[in-house]
Amino acid sequence: MANIQWFPGHMAKARNQVQEKLKQVDLVLEIVDARVPEASRNPMMNQIVGQKPRIMVLNKKDLADPNKTAQWLAYYRAQGDEAIAIDAQHAKRLNQIPQLARQMMAAKIEKQKSRGIRNPSLRAMCIGIPNVGKSTVLNRLVKKNIAVVGNRPGVTKNQQWLKADDTLMLLDTPGILWPKFEDELVGEKLALTGAIADTVFQEDGVGLFGLTFFQRAYPAALKRAYHLNDEEMALTPADLMVVLSQKMGFGETFNRAAERLIFDARQGKLGAFTLEVPGDFDGHAE
Ligand code: GDP
Repeated sequence: MANIQWFPGHMAKARNQVQEKLKQVDLVLEIVDARVPEASRNPMMNQIVGQKPRIMVLNKKDLADPNKTAQWLAYYRAQGDEAIAIDAQHAKRLNQIPQLARQMMAAKIEKQKSRGIRNPSLRAMCIGIPNVGKSTVLNRLVKKNIAVVGNRPGVTKNQQWLKADDTLMLLDTPGILWPKFEDELVGEKLALTGAIADTVFQEDGVGLFGLTFFQRAYPAALKRAYHLNDEEMALTPADLMVVLSQKMGFGETFNRAAERLIFDARQGKLGAFTLEVPGDFDGHAE
């Protein structure tokens, strides 16, 4: 990921913007990609969110390994957050978010009622790095197409409160939050899942990373997808990539096979997968 430009100034700006808006909200919805719950977080958020009640929203549940999603939910709950897995694209389980928010903030709602406020309200800020599905989640929650124009550097957003229901008001991420690009493993995971643009990474490196991962963590799916025999499955990832390349009709052109593998993984041809598990972000532990 060497060619990604990293500006410390942008980082500081995003942090300040979040910190500023955080004062106006009761809780935070942190949206991550369920296939890479940690790699798809902004590294500063834990510290900034601090003690604010938080719901970890593991989106793209449909693409993730259900067993590992269950492990992540348990992990975040053990850390003191609420956690939920959803599929925003197909509008699955989203209505549980406002419910969960109300449940978490029951004391505050009661307090407002006891003060005579007839329509108690909660304010939440959605945070997430680009591509985790934040716009999709927000659109579904407010039940209309709102123009979420974040995700592009230099675009000043017109921050507005969005109404999810009678109790819950939502605010989109102020500014852009980047993942931990400087960590190569994070970059590879994000590239494989499609969270970062194809123009900024080398296919062969990411493809080989993916192949190594699937060979170890999901061998049956890999074997099935490319009709591999046991002997081929026992090859080193680099040799296996050559075999794949031949099978795909690309001869020995390694990077076309890598490109195809990345495409297939993103399309779900290799089944649902999760690249990391709690306590071992390399995905080893089962
Ligand atoms: P944002 O950059 O965080 O606002 O992300 P978007 O809402 O634009 O979503 C990025 C991509 O992920 C889009 O192609 C969405 O259709 C897709 N997406 C969002 N949520 C889901 C989901 O739950 N499942 C799947 N399979 N795709 C999703």
